[in-house]
Amino acid sequence: MAAMIRLHNTLGGRVEEFVPIESGSVKLYTCGPTVYDFPHIGNWRSYVFEDLLKRLFLYRGFRVLHVMNITDVDDKTIRGANAKGVGLEEYTRPFIEAFARDRDILNILPADVYPRATAHIEEMVGLIETLLQKGFAYRKDGSIYFAIDKFPAYGLLSKIKAEDLRPGSHADSDEYEKESVRDFALWKAPKEGEPVWETRIGPGRPGWHIECSAMSSKYLGRTFDIHCGGVDNIFPHHENEIAQSEAANGVKFVNYWVHGHHLVVDGEKMSKSKGNFYTLTDILARGYDPLDVRYLLVATHYRKMLNFTFEALDQARTARRRIGNFLGELRAAAQDGPSDPAVVRMVDEARAGFVAGLEDDLNISEALAAVFTLIKSAYPLLQCGGISGPDALTIASFFAEVDEVVAVKPAPLPREQLEAEILNKIEARQKARADRDFKRADGIRDELLEAGIVLEDTKDGVRWKKAGPPKS
Ligand SMILES: [Zn+2]
Repeated sequence: MAAMIRLHNTLGGRVEEFVPIESGSVKLYTCGPTVYDFPHIGNWRSYVFEDLLKRLFLYRGFRVLHVMNITDVDDKTIRGANAKGVGLEEYTRPFIEAFARDRDILNILPADVYPRATAHIEEMVGLIETLLQKGFAYRKDGSIYFAIDKFPAYGLLSKIKAEDLRPGSHADSDEYEKESVRDFALWKAPKEGEPVWETRIGPGRPGWHIECSAMSSKYLGRTFDIHCGGVDNIFPHHENEIAQSEAANGVKFVNYWVHGHHLVVDGEKMSKSKGNFYTLTDILARGYDPLDVRYLLVATHYRKMLNFTFEALDQARTARRRIGNFLGELRAAAQDGPSDPAVVRMVDEARAGFVAGLEDDLNISEALAAVFTLIKSAYPLLQCGGISGPDALTIASFFAEVDEVVAVKPAPLPREQLEAEILNKIEARQKARADRDFKRADGIRDELLEAGIVLEDTKDGVRWKKAGPPKS
């Protein structure tokens, strides 16, 4: 089955077939963390969607060269370091370490290169020199700005309206509103309390946008395949990256721009003041497995808003366990016997559905539906001993393929833990009934049923047993 991956390209605004520059290879740049704080769950949503994309390419036989920058100098990192009275290096180090730790426990494949902005000042200076020479940039009060009216393609990515353009007026801060599109700072004049580099273009420090233009081209070339980020990066960050790179290099910067949507918490924008702001550590402190979190983040299509709630996280945990429990039973039930063509066909259909879903602009719902359909069809056979050893292996190896991409390592709960958890739930249900909270009591019963556990109220108390094959 030859790979035919289709992706939504923000540049142009439609789903397109992915055609790599070099056959069989993908050059991928993803905007990395600005290390002024611990990443929050919304940041992880972006990184997990990018990981799904990268894993799909690897699964479909592509080589992937992946670069993710680390922004360790910008307005925010400088503000944070000053507030704490420490240098940038000392200030950003713990956040860089936390990023790497959380990335690993979320089972996100590391990039091939993590260039740091502070280690690439020379490349940025070179790019700015070119922009000055070609007349795309000008100096003002010790800073250097990009003149957006010199670059007619400005605004194509973010679809800026001409009446919003304010060429000539400039923005000194890295982030500003789309309603007042301005010339933006490539290089910022020395300021009290800010780090200064002495360079050929004068003393100062880089703006945020030039960092990604300089570092992506250094490692991936002047034109590369895919650039990812969150939708909030489209303007001004990615718009400015295109302007800088294409003005300087005279060639197309990126072929496919792929952007992930926001994450909200309980339907609201996450903010520290509202108390709905979560880092991964905050969530794990409530007893969740990081891969339950990954399942939740991965299972919503990347171009849809993801509403993070603990209820949704519980459902993600249940879904992940359903796969794990199925695989556990598959191992236990494997017997000798000939392969059944019907089972092999079921697996082939599931694989075709899984691949077709993902190749269609990462349609994860369709891909996972194919996986759960297989579970539903195989369960009854499994329970009556109708799956042979070779077929169990065929099914298991398909699930291993699935996990190369989804990467949630579904594992059955160990028996003792499972029993302890069921007993806890039964107790919670009894308490809810005693409190006459029947809605909660029924909710707990349904939750258990979902996990394949049936409760029976007997005169000696509540008993539980494993449910039969799940009904579709
Ligand atoms: Zn960037």
